[in-house]
Amino acid sequence: MRANSLADKRAITGQQNFKWGRAAWLVLVVALVVSFAPAVTVAQEANITVDGKRAMQYLQRVCDIGPRISGSEGMQKQQQLIIDHFSKLGCEIKSQAFDVNHPTNGTPVRMTNLVISWNPTAKERVLLACHYDTRPYPDRDLLRPRGTFVGANDGASGVALFMEMAHHMKTIRPRYGVDMVFFDGEELVFRNGDKYFYGSEYFAKWLRDKPPEYRYVCGVVVDMIADKKLELYYEQGSLRMANKVTKSIWATAKRIGVKEFIEKPKHEVSDDHLALNQIAGVPTCDIIDFDYSAWHTTRDNPSACSGDSLQKVARVLLTWLEEVPID
Ligand SMILES: [Zn+2]
Repeated sequence: MRANSLADKRAITGQQNFKWGRAAWLVLVVALVVSFAPAVTVAQEANITVDGKRAMQYLQRVCDIGPRISGSEGMQKQQQLIIDHFSKLGCEIKSQAFDVNHPTNGTPVRMTNLVISWNPTAKERVLLACHYDTRPYPDRDLLRPRGTFVGANDGASGVALFMEMAHHMKTIRPRYGVDMVFFDGEELVFRNGDKYFYGSEYFAKWLRDKPPEYRYVCGVVVDMIADKKLELYYEQGSLRMANKVTKSIWATAKRIGVKEFIEKPKHEVSDDHLALNQIAGVPTCDIIDFDYSAWHTTRDNPSACSGDSLQKVARVLLTWLEEVPID
């Protein structure tokens, strides 16, 4: 994601420098043969027993792959990890693949959004999304701007969150069908001026131009939600574009006592929620902790993250899915 106020990034207007590949929807796995056995017993809403330690192990496992830059071998390994995890839990997994031109040398880069569907036949759905690619370089690192970037908070945190939430999805009663979407190409950014948000823009244009038989009543993007010192303020664009959704999430957090959701606006951030709001017309909130000093540095590694933070965000979202405001 990029901060609107930072001078080292440009606005995301400008020409589309990617090719429109045909949306190739493939049902990769429909493994419903094994009946689902939750790893953790879940009690009533507001008392969901999310396993923060396990969530942190997922984050560590994703980071152990190394960098997951769009089109890289690390990204392929991560895709396999995600597919293995969710297929074991009996989910329907689809992929949406397309090619873009590499920003520095123009060669094709294969992008793949992954969609995990819960209650796939529901015609009204909630979209939960994160990006799962990592930035090529930690360019805000003063000492090693060309060092290795593993994106523990900025990349792996959303993946780990959804992997943990998956254990609980069949023990809650979501008001709508739920899709967990992993966006590729959020930041294939090598230099100032390179484009962001390939995956979410492709997905949003597909929703707009070839609407499926279902519709998304609303969406939530999570980004950088594993910071040890978690502070989640309202993101200002979310308040403007998806006010009801945003307020309802923070209201759920307040009700179940998760104080890290602070009912005050702070940053305004350009992130994957923009395309969903502006192109697809799906009111979508961005849950992001933008007070993170390790952002785009080599210090964005698992030691800066906490399973407790992941557990809190998971608990809020699982509870909220049962009480999403009626559209
Ligand atoms: Zn980033």
